[in-house]
Amino acid sequence: MTTENTPVSTDSTPFVGNTRKVSQHVNQNEGLIFEKSSPGKKAYRLAPLDVPEVDAAKLLGAAVRTDLGALPEVSEIEIIRHFTRLSTWNYAIDLGMYPLGSCTMKYNPRVNEAVARLEGLADAHPYQPEVLSQGAMRILLQLQQCLTEITGMDAITLQPAAGAHGEFTGILLARAYHESKGNPRKKIFIPDSAHGTNPATAAICGYQVENLKSNAQGMVDVAQLEKMVCDDTAALMLTNPSTIGVFESEIHKIANILHAKGALLYMDGANMNALVGKTRPGDFGVDVMHLNLHKTFSTPHGGGGPGSGPVVCKKILEPFLPVPVVVENSNGTLHFEYNRSQSVGRVRAFYGNFGMFVRALAYILANGPDGLRQTTEDAVLNANYIRKNLEDVYDLPYTTPTLHEVVFSDRRQARNGVKTGDIAKRLIDYGFHPYTVSFPMIVPGALMIEPTESESKEELDLFIDAMRQIAREAEENPSLILNAPHSTRISRLDEVGAARRPVLRWKPEALEMA
Ligand SMILES: *Cc1c(COP(=O)(O)O)cnc(C)c1O
Repeated sequence: MTTENTPVSTDSTPFVGNTRKVSQHVNQNEGLIFEKSSPGKKAYRLAPLDVPEVDAAKLLGAAVRTDLGALPEVSEIEIIRHFTRLSTWNYAIDLGMYPLGSCTMKYNPRVNEAVARLEGLADAHPYQPEVLSQGAMRILLQLQQCLTEITGMDAITLQPAAGAHGEFTGILLARAYHESKGNPRKKIFIPDSAHGTNPATAAICGYQVENLKSNAQGMVDVAQLEKMVCDDTAALMLTNPSTIGVFESEIHKIANILHAKGALLYMDGANMNALVGKTRPGDFGVDVMHLNLHKTFSTPHGGGGPGSGPVVCKKILEPFLPVPVVVENSNGTLHFEYNRSQSVGRVRAFYGNFGMFVRALAYILANGPDGLRQTTEDAVLNANYIRKNLEDVYDLPYTTPTLHEVVFSDRRQARNGVKTGDIAKRLIDYGFHPYTVSFPMIVPGALMIEPTESESKEELDLFIDAMRQIAREAEENPSLILNAPHSTRISRLDEVGAARRPVLRWKPEALEMA
């Protein structure tokens, strides 16, 4: 279709050593379903009509579409093969390790899926009366209790649809809190290692962003923070452990500095996979934070399902939480409370992504406190195993002990013209999803690796082998890396062109042009 549609290599792909190749059905002629279309082919056959035929136009009027456009006409087996083939051109957590740092791409246990598909839960309607929804509401309440206990906080909303949406909700709470004291304040501090959604959140909530430079350990410079905090400071948004996997060892002091000036401590909880069962943000001074159920609590991620970004907070912020709030009556039944005068209102339709709550609760209950703690320890152990086995070949800019993820830089490989993005593309040839590229920004040429607890030692060893082979290739044969991936149906894409001139919809003309 496009000029980037480069020829595909077959088994001549240059592989070396103890690596594996994800099998890919690659055939240049098996691209688009439209190209297989021929007039009159059908993927269905209906039984002869045994009732009087109705004139659809009479029934539905203008709603009946007469021009169906150029839809492909194919047989059943062609359409089955088309979608099955497409699925094999993709990479998935169910195929192998997915070491995207900061994303916590852990395994999604199948038992969670089975529970979420139970008829009474999957078919529940949000307009179902409360009296018929007591079980579903009990799940909301129980998940809320688990998450506030795990984080050491007092109150919660499950409404936000993802982490970024949770940030927005959390900062709305902070704003409402300051407004209730007469002044919303002006500034939010954000460390230079933060995820891009943090400054975006602050800006969209009407705050000025003040950048905090990290110190040599990759932590907040406490002395600098102390100088900057003033009566205009609304909050600090802090990721802990930070995006380089480092725990803010002075977190208590940071919280005290903020609180002394009436400012709040917001924690970006995306990295909770390093803390669950070990320490609680509520105990180290955090006032409000979000959780990413699709990261820490094993609900599907990306194309696999909607996200979920609950926000937990301290008592002082509880009056501002979104409505409705699920409340237990004195007789043990549950109801939704809508009438809360200081609430910021709704942030999402209905109650949030309910199916994700079921999965997260199933995960938490199946693991129990000891299992969750073990999960955290295994995630940290796995990241440190990778760190130890790669630190002699990849540059480690921060030597501070890391928790659940490790961030290298491409400094050594860049001397041969090989950058982090090239190494990531070469990793695809070795059967792995790339790590996170060029983030966090405080590490130039970052390789951010988060294995999670899901991976076995054998899988980690394969990954380490692949990364070490690539480091050797960078010395001996850089062009092999610069032209990678060699094993995928399409190799390097024109990334600038894709951003500037995106083709988002198939049109017959595009086919003719190609
Ligand atoms: C993933 C992530 C976010 C955003 O969460 P989404 O659920 O993707 O919206 C924010 N901060 C950090 C550090 C993250 O890793």
